[in-house]
Amino acid sequence: MLALAMCATCLAPAPAWALSLIAPIPGPVVRRFSAPVPDWQSGHRGVDILGQVGEVVSAAAGGTITYAGKLAGRGVVTVTHGELRTTYEPVSAEVRVGDKVAAGQAIGTLESGHACPGGTCLHWGLKRGDTYLDPLSMLADLSVRLLPESAVGIADSKAAARAAALDSGHGIPGLFTFPANGEVGSGFGMRFHPIFKEWRMHEGVDIGASCGSPIRVAAPGVVERVSFDESGGHRLLVSHGTVGGHKLETMYLHAQGYLVHAGQKLVRGQVVGKVGDTGWATGCHLHFSVKVDGRHVDPEGFL
Ligand SMILES: [Zn+2]
Ligand SMILES: [Zn+2]
Repeated sequence: MLALAMCATCLAPAPAWALSLIAPIPGPVVRRFSAPVPDWQSGHRGVDILGQVGEVVSAAAGGTITYAGKLAGRGVVTVTHGELRTTYEPVSAEVRVGDKVAAGQAIGTLESGHACPGGTCLHWGLKRGDTYLDPLSMLADLSVRLLPESAVGIADSKAAARAAALDSGHGIPGLFTFPANGEVGSGFGMRFHPIFKEWRMHEGVDIGASCGSPIRVAAPGVVERVSFDESGGHRLLVSHGTVGGHKLETMYLHAQGYLVHAGQKLVRGQVVGKVGDTGWATGCHLHFSVKVDGRHVDPEGFL
């Protein structure tokens, strides 16, 4: 009985128009909702979620695109879900008005323009009629909602920790996801080269993936170059923007080929090519390397 009484508020029936939302990007909430009272006063009519420019923004629930374009110079997307609308900005839209989207479906990519502690933010709003609501109040993922009030401090210190890690030549674990199905065979560092039979620097890791298996980009980014040379075979260079002022890139070598072209925006995990053995390779594998400010570093610090 006591438990029931304590939980009285959670047993209140949800209104018919309520929705279960998912966060449009995974980053922490660094600025919370504050209702404008009265309406014309400035509040913060949404929440700011820390992200990276170029990161994919997805629909918080299934619905129909009712706005996709520029408002006051900023890209804005609105998704209508029955009585509720969610808005996303600044976002470069990859959908059009009238498109139906499912929860979690990509609607565009994050643009710069909404500065916040730690970098760039997505401003995410929720409205019912003319009333602004707190999107976090309908979030299904409690881990996001339960961020402590000091979220701003956390985001600041997280960003500072990332910058400091790169400043001191360390990696950022989890920044990149594994680009192929397989184990790391040959690691980063000096090794006895299997073809040249001499000690050479190995500027990446070799992942023992099978011929023709998918190569997936390790983080959101933009294709810088697709090329071929005698040593690396079919190679791909992807830019992931900057973290703490440091330029980050990933490289993929020896592929059978790539499905992407220079300038193309990529979603994390997107299949970009097939594992092969082109160039100086003794068999099919993916050579994956990470560059910070143009210098090769150990990818295992980032996986
Ligand atoms: Zn905002
Ligand atoms: Zn290699």
